[in-house]
Order: sequence, then structure tokens, then C-alpha cells
Amino acid sequence: GSGAVGDAAPTPMMAQFLEIKERHADCLLFYRMGDFYELFFDDAVAASAALGITLTKRGKHLGADIPMAGVPVVSSDDYLQKLIGLGFRVAVCEQVEDPAEAKKRGGKSVVRRDVVRLVTPGTITEETLLEPGRPNYLMCLSRIGGAAGAYAIAWTDLSTGLFRIAQTSADQLSADVLAMEPSEVVVADTLATDEALGPLVQRLGRRLRVEPAVLFDGATAEERLCRFFGVSTLDGFGTFGRAELSAGAALLAYLARTQLKAHPPLSPPRRVEAGSYLRIDPATRASLELTRTVAGKRQGSLLATIDRCLTGAGSRLLGARLALPLTDPAGISERQDSVAVLAEEGTLRRRLRECLRGLPDIDRALSRLGLDRGGPRDLGALAEGLERAGAIARELAGADLGHELAEALAALEARPLALAVSLTDTLADDLPLQRRDGGFVRAGADPDLDETRALRDHSRRVVAELQARYAGETGIRSLKVKHNNVLGYFVEVPEAQGPAMLAGGAFHHRQTLASAMRFSTPELADLEARITEAGSKALAIELALFSGLRDAVLAEIDAIRAVSDALAVIDVSAGLAELAVAADWVRPVVDGTLAFFIECGRHPVVEAALKGGGQSFVANDCDLSPPQGVSGKAGGAGAIWLITGPNMGGKSTFLRQNALIAVLAQIGAFVPATKAHIGVVDRLFSRVGASDDLAEGRSTFMVEMVETAAILNQATERTLVVLDEIGRGTSTYDGLSIAFASVEHLHEVNRARALFATHFHEMTALAARLKRLRNATVRVKEWEGEVIFLHEVTSGVADRSYGVQVARLAGLPPAVVERARQILSELERSGQGEKRTAFLDDLPLFSQAARAPAAPPPSPALDALAALDPDALTPREALEALYRLKGLV
Ligand code: ADP
Repeated sequence: GSGAVGDAAPTPMMAQFLEIKERHADCLLFYRMGDFYELFFDDAVAASAALGITLTKRGKHLGADIPMAGVPVVSSDDYLQKLIGLGFRVAVCEQVEDPAEAKKRGGKSVVRRDVVRLVTPGTITEETLLEPGRPNYLMCLSRIGGAAGAYAIAWTDLSTGLFRIAQTSADQLSADVLAMEPSEVVVADTLATDEALGPLVQRLGRRLRVEPAVLFDGATAEERLCRFFGVSTLDGFGTFGRAELSAGAALLAYLARTQLKAHPPLSPPRRVEAGSYLRIDPATRASLELTRTVAGKRQGSLLATIDRCLTGAGSRLLGARLALPLTDPAGISERQDSVAVLAEEGTLRRRLRECLRGLPDIDRALSRLGLDRGGPRDLGALAEGLERAGAIARELAGADLGHELAEALAALEARPLALAVSLTDTLADDLPLQRRDGGFVRAGADPDLDETRALRDHSRRVVAELQARYAGETGIRSLKVKHNNVLGYFVEVPEAQGPAMLAGGAFHHRQTLASAMRFSTPELADLEARITEAGSKALAIELALFSGLRDAVLAEIDAIRAVSDALAVIDVSAGLAELAVAADWVRPVVDGTLAFFIECGRHPVVEAALKGGGQSFVANDCDLSPPQGVSGKAGGAGAIWLITGPNMGGKSTFLRQNALIAVLAQIGAFVPATKAHIGVVDRLFSRVGASDDLAEGRSTFMVEMVETAAILNQATERTLVVLDEIGRGTSTYDGLSIAFASVEHLHEVNRARALFATHFHEMTALAARLKRLRNATVRVKEWEGEVIFLHEVTSGVADRSYGVQVARLAGLPPAVVERARQILSELERSGQGEKRTAFLDDLPLFSQAARAPAAPPPSPALDALAALDPDALTPREALEALYRLKGLV
């Protein structure tokens, strides 16, 4: 074929591209061409739309133009970040041989290229692509056996090497996954339709990745894990179930698939024991705004409010602690000791924080070096990190430390000193980003390098001297010696002087420009060769030194990680101490009782926001401890507070602040109160404010009922339940009845500590029948027809709802407000409210038990059994119900 049209055979380069692209069909292919990564065909169209870069064309394929777009290699990180953020995966294809080799093969040979790495949301390691204070988790889920089988999750932060495995269950799976906020979740295709994954599919969206089931092969899982960590048994790391092994091995397989030849430097897997953490389901996390607000922002979340850490690793550790608060009083107390020491020792804290400020990210530098993606600055980060570790160890030495800080100090003292010395002795003060830029080895560090550099510098000086000599010899005073990448060194004179130069014969003409002529000389060419040779020799020496240092670093990886972990612990403790001192927080007593007592508690986020506006927060007490003299059979049960009061009175704030204080207490932090005593909470349920589940297509009421069902089915006496306005989205009687029955169930069956806010004033009558139920209300003052919210929680019952007044504050037209006022007084006069309360007194249910104390105590198992409808259960639900019943006996 002659013309372009119909010329079907692709060029050798295009053939290579198509072959590589076929192997990575689900990725955008970044194909390296010189200083650019180029994208072709659909990739180019997609990337140009996503990145706003120009779409051009290059050559033809099958008679049609080939769409093309390109991004410069130097700024490719920014583009990668954007693409990953949009949910794309990118295959990075590099030249894997020297172009000279391809030339030797001759003819139409193109430089060999191959994909060196797949960039996916969960596998990035570049500083510029990562948020400093946030982990970047890649997670695998696996199941062994059928739908009722064992589930496990394994997760890693490739950027820091962290590796965790945990057993979970069909019920807990989505909560456990979402608690970690993974960037990417990988499941086997065989599991993708599992019912337990339902809630995840919606919430993870593009972050969920389906891979072939072979990745998860259970039979070879243990062996693959052993091989990766170079051990003959995993016993030293813990005892793992089959599902856990499968999830862990799948993670390694997925990493191998995306990192290709690189062997990621992961820490050995650590098992997370399900029972040792406070369980918080996704709806509770969302409602309490633990890590992000309901609007999705970090600012305004609990984490953002309490994070005073100065290092990325510190912030990551704090976030990890918030994801998994402890339930073991001893473990909590150890963390509190650290905060207490640093809260008391102001000078020590300030000096530690001075050392921590600006500390480089050791974990991430280490990971990049381990993946052979690191540069001189990563070595520099380690050098500085180790030096600062020394300074911090000196500050801590001799102080009266608790167990946790003493251990941290020991890790700092065990830092690899020799390595630290050789890093600082070898590395220059100013480090380039890339190793191939050279110049990162300090003068005096290596005699060979010094000598080579001296040769190069000498030749450069000779070149500089040549300009004066040539100018003298030719008499052309404007003669210059210059350098560029194409010609190397050359002599340049104005065009008018050109002929004179040519005539002399000593100068070889190279180039004529509009206003100048350029020449070379044998002397310059010789110097050029020497400089180039010395330059590449120097670079080779530097690269060898780099590899040596890198190997030395990796040989000490465990010790360096221990240093980094210790620094993170110190940063978190000092940050929480700083916060406790600045915001006047106290150390809570956390133990194995069922106490829940908070004196002058505050909502940390609302308080901070009010403070910013110059207002102060009204502190409130809360006491859900088992009432004196009222003891249940299972060693007591906590109280329930039923809170009524007008909208805007501060109910939600009060509900949330108590839940937040429990969480803060169990991550080992101090709490915003003057005194607190928390018997560890095993599980926290909070339904306050609007639910965000509407996207799933269920009505508000249905969502609320599903969530309420989950609470009533799962709460135990160790659980803390915080519920707001149950029974809204339905008729008053329906809603009231459901709210009533729910509170009775919580009190009699679950026996959980609970806060329950309601707008059904009729419910306050329950206090007469339920022994551990207390009525509380938020106080308001009326003044000249206006309501003033005092935000004070006191015992008692709200006398009125003040809905009409609140409506007026909200700007309802005066005529409507006036009319509402009339209707309300009419209703009140006709005694409607009375009647409604009266009918409730006749409700039987638990009220009989309470009225007739001689009757046998209610049995949770019998009640649950009575509530079962065998015809409405699937076999699996029936089995679960059986286990639940068994658990109640
Ligand atoms: P409710 O749930 O009763 O409608 P909220 O808890 O939403 O009321 O509180 C309404 C507003 O009152 C909040 O936005 C907050 O700014 C303010 N507020 C609530 N509690 C307090 C408090 N204890 N001290 C000061 N201001 C408060």
C-alpha cells in the first residue's frame, strides 16, 4: 500500500503499544516517549476529558487517525493524582532498555518497553499523591465456606508497610471495612454477589475492585504468606484462620500484580482481635462525624478537632486509634498515662514538640526505598528522622514515663546509629529529587568521586579560559564559548564575523543562525568528551553509593520502623496532652464497671466552634450508671435518660457529646468534662440527626426502622445507645407506639445504657413504670413572648414544646405563626393532649411486670422467642435467631 489510507500494518511502535495495551485493558496506559507519557485511542480521549489536556492525533491505524494526548513526565504526579481520584487505574509503561541497544538490533526495532507498575487508588506511594496525615489502605475481603462461612479482611498501607488481618462476620463485614476508610477494596469475583457485600457496593463505588478468585486461593495462602516474609511458619506472627490467610495472601497477590517486579517492604501481618475494640457501625460513625462531617468534610469532624499532631505518622496513628477504640481498661490506661505525663510536664512536652515539628515522614520514605522508587530526599528524610529521634530520646531520658512512653524511648535508643552516621556523612545538604540528577553525595565522602569531580571541574575551567584565548587569537571581542544539548560546547560569533572565522581554518562550521554563526574546535570536542565522561563516571559512583545506602537502610528496616512507630506514639500523646491542657480536659476513669458518669461534659466540636465565635458552651452532666439499689440479675444495668424539650434546645448536642466522650475515653484521650467515669462500652449505637442512607432508595422511616431493629437486636448491657426522635416519619400514634416499645425493650431486654431524645411528651410517663428510666429536659426561658434556650439539661419534663416560637424564629410569616398559636391553644383547651396520654397508660406489654413486682422477672430469651415468626424466616435467619436466643439464656 502506498498512501496512508488502507495501510493496515501498524508501525512497530504501534504494534508494541497495542500488545501492551491488550494486557492492561482496564487501565489507562501511560506509554513513555522521551520526556512524555503518551496516551492513545480511547485512553487519550478519556484522559483529555478528565485532565483537560489537548487531544491531538498521531499517525493512522486501520486507516483512521490515532487520537493522542500526552503529559510531561516531570509533572505526571499531578495528573496521576487527578486520574486516581476520579477512579481510573493507570499502567505506567517505561523503556526497559537503553535506546542504544535497540539501535544495535537495527532496522525497525523499537526500544523495548514494559509496564513497570499499575497505579491504583490503594497502591500509591508518592508523597505528592498522598495526604500526609491519612493512611491509604488497600483491603482484601475473603470468605471461606458458604454465605454463613467465615469472613476476614486484610489491609495494608503500602506507603508505610502496615499490614493487618482480622476475622469478621457477614453481619460485621461492612462495618469493619468502612471503619478503616479504605481507598481500594479487592474481592474475588465469586464473592462479588455475596449479600454481606450489599452495603459496601453502594458506598465504595469505584473503590471496589473485583479480581479473579485464584488470587484468594485458600489452599496455597499460608505458603504464599510464608514465602513473602521468608519464614517457614506464620506462628511467630499469630494464629490465623483460613479466611484470614486467604485475605492476607490475596493482598500479597494483588500487590504482586500491581507492583510487578518490586517486592513491597511490608511489616509482618498483625492480627486484630475483634473483641478488643469498641464496635461502631457506619451509621454511628457518620452521625457522630468521627472522621468527617455529614457533609463529607474533614474540617469539623472529631478527628480534625482533636488532631494536634505535628507529623503525618502521628495523625495517621490518631486516626487509626479513632477507627478502633479499645475495650481493655489496662490498654486504655497505658495510653492515658502517656498523655498524663506530657500534660503535666509542660516543658518536656514543648521541647518534644519542637523536635517533632517538621519531622520527615520516615515510614513513607522507607516504603519508597523498599519499592526502589525512592530518591536522595528519601535517604535524607531517614537521616534527619534518625537524628531527631536521637534528640527526642535525649529529652525523654530520665523523665518519669509510663509504660508506653518508656517503650517508645527504648525503641528510639535502639536506633541504628552507624547507619545514621553514614547517611549524614554521605549525603549533601541540598538533595535533588531524582537520583539520576546526581550531586547528592557530599564532597569528601568518597575519594574516587572527589577525584572525578575535580577532573570535570578542571575541564570546565579550561573551557572557560578558552573563550578569552580564542577572542584574543581571532581579534573578535564578542566571541563566546557556549553549550547546548545538541552541539555540546561551541564557539559563537556574530554573523558578520563568520567569514573571518571560516577563513582561519582552525574553526569548523556547525550552524548558521539569523544573527550568529557557530563553530567547533578539536580542543573543545576533547574537553567536552572529558567532561561528559567524568560526569557519567561521577554519576555512576553516586548511584553505587545510593544503592549501598539503600541496602543498608533496608537491612535495618525493623529498627527504623520501630523508631517511626515510637515517634508517632510520642506525637499522638503530646498532641492529646497539648489539647487537654489548652481546652481543659480531664483524664476519665475507665474500668470494667457499667458506670457512665460525666460531670460538666462538653461537645468538643461544638465548643470549639462556639469559642471561635466568642461564645461559651454550657456544660452538662450525664449519669447513666446503674442506679443505687436497683440491681438486675446480671450484675446490674445502666440507666436510660429520656430527654424531652423544644427543638433547638440542645438535645442532639447533648446526646452526641456523651457518645463522643465515651469514644475519646476509649482511645485513651482525655475528655471535655470536669470528671468522668466510663465503664467500657463494647458497642456504640448513635442515631442522631438525619440519616444519609436515602440513596439506597428506602424511605426515611424504613431506614430508621431497620437501624432501630439492628440496635434492639444487638445491644447488650455493655452497649451505649444514643437515639434521637425515633418514629418520626409516620403517623403520630404509630411513631409514639414504636418509640414506646423500643424504650421498653432497651430497658427490659437489652438493659443498655441509653440516651433517648423524643418529641413525644407522652413518653415521659414511662418513668413511673421503668425503674432505671429518668426524665430529663433542656431548659428554656420565656421572655416577652420569646424563647431563650439555656442549653441546660436538668431532670424533669419539658412543659411545652415551644414549636410555635421556634417556627417564628425560623421566619415563618407572622400571620401563620399567629394562626398556629390560636390552633394550639384551641387544642390544649379541648384536652386532646390529656386523652393521648391516658390511652398510653392502658398499654400492657412490660408495664404489667413493672406494676406487679411479684411477677417473675422478664426473660430476654422468652421475649425474643415470642417475637419470632418462624414462617417469616429464611433458614439462615432461623439459624442466626437460634444462636441469638442461646446467647440470651
Ligand atoms: P435540638 O437537638 O434540641 O434541636 P441542638 O442540639 O441541635 O438542638 O442544638 C441547637 C443549637 O444550640 C446548636 O446548633 C448549638 O449551637 C447550640 N447548643 C446546643 N447545646 C449547647 C450548649 N450546651 N451550649 C451552648 N450552645 C449549645
